[in-house]
Amino acid sequence: MKRLFKGGTVVSGDGMRKLDLLVKGEKILASGEDLSFQDAEIVDVTGKLLFPGFIDAHTHMALEVSGTVTADGFDTGTKAELAGGTTCIIDFATQYKGETLAQALENWHRKADGESSCDYAFHLALSEWNDEISRELERVVREEISSFKLYMTYDNRVDDETMYEVLSRLKELGAIAGVHCENHGIISARLKEVLKNKGDRKDVSDYPWTRPKEAEAEAVGRLLKIARCVDTPVIVVHLSTAAGYREILRAREAGQTVYVETCPQYLLMDESRYSLPAEEARLYMIAPPLRKKKNQEILWQALREGRIQTISTDHCSFTKEQKDAGAQDFSRTPCGMPGAQERPALIWHFGVGEGRITPEQMCIYLSENPAKLYRLYPWKGALIPGSDADIVVWDPEAEWTMTADSMQSAAGYCPMEGTQIRGRAEQVYLRGELVAENGKVLVEKTGRYVRHGAGE
Ligand SMILES: [Zn+2]
Repeated sequence: MKRLFKGGTVVSGDGMRKLDLLVKGEKILASGEDLSFQDAEIVDVTGKLLFPGFIDAHTHMALEVSGTVTADGFDTGTKAELAGGTTCIIDFATQYKGETLAQALENWHRKADGESSCDYAFHLALSEWNDEISRELERVVREEISSFKLYMTYDNRVDDETMYEVLSRLKELGAIAGVHCENHGIISARLKEVLKNKGDRKDVSDYPWTRPKEAEAEAVGRLLKIARCVDTPVIVVHLSTAAGYREILRAREAGQTVYVETCPQYLLMDESRYSLPAEEARLYMIAPPLRKKKNQEILWQALREGRIQTISTDHCSFTKEQKDAGAQDFSRTPCGMPGAQERPALIWHFGVGEGRITPEQMCIYLSENPAKLYRLYPWKGALIPGSDADIVVWDPEAEWTMTADSMQSAAGYCPMEGTQIRGRAEQVYLRGELVAENGKVLVEKTGRYVRHGAGE
């Protein structure tokens, strides 16, 4: 089966070109001007942009956290991704305490295999570190995983010594770590302080104060100094503050390689949401928290200058009922928000549409860079001969309104509810097959596991 996409403009990181694409089976066979081919089905994409399927390198599907499990498993979560134009996710398979890495991966495969509607790879979040895990890492890196996650806060946080050892081992194996950077001590102390001063922790407007920008900046700075001693690149995930960003610039000036990820929520929403009535405010409780508005332009500026490498969602969804676990104490609220389906349209509308970034940059941040950073390129992240035919037919003019009703997520709410958007994924092809159209998923559960090990 051959398909010829005719009349569209192919977007890549280094330009936009009027090119036709010939797809055979799951792969792109050829691209060129005015291609014709006898037995190919013609897909007329005149006036449309063709993006390489977007990659969401930061998702939490079916994650057990705060005594509950995320509202979206791989079933609904990946339908949301696909509906918005994302054809591959990299989810955080999480090693629970006492588990080997093999057990953690087996557990995540049980959640994802046969359920996922887009392709999926895993990062592995490490919660325990010892000689056995260090030995096991070699096989895992060689066979399937090249990126790992470490937390500097939460129960599974690593101390500085462990951070050093893990980064050293990953360097040895040719793998990389993404790190959640927040200072745990500041957060714990401030949570206690709220309780002491107010008698309870019901007022969600105190939440951002418990996770100040200094907590992020300190952790980013400390991580980068440890990485400098190890002499290895690292990834700062979900950067949310100008203060944290300054630490990154400083390290880069000293010659360090630092990759940075941010998320639409930090570009588009601010901490005033925590002053809404508590039950609504809890819906926006994420970690790191939404910040003061002035951070947004600095993050956008960094994207404009190419100093942030990827935009992911940190999709980690809970329903309003799940969020209500924090009614008597906001620190018991499961933290996280949905955003899988919204990301491409939000970045197009507020980024490209408002002149902050170019379409090429959108392609770089949502597709090309995550593919390169996580060893999926050029099978993913590019529309060139030999690549997977993951194609997003983007209608730059389509006007629509973002509402919870139009979302596939099981969260039941849309953080950007009511936003008028221009631009959307009109058709989404996964390895050559039309799987979603105008926000509706046509084909479910055909996602395939993607290995991205460093071996061979
Ligand atoms: Zn996350």
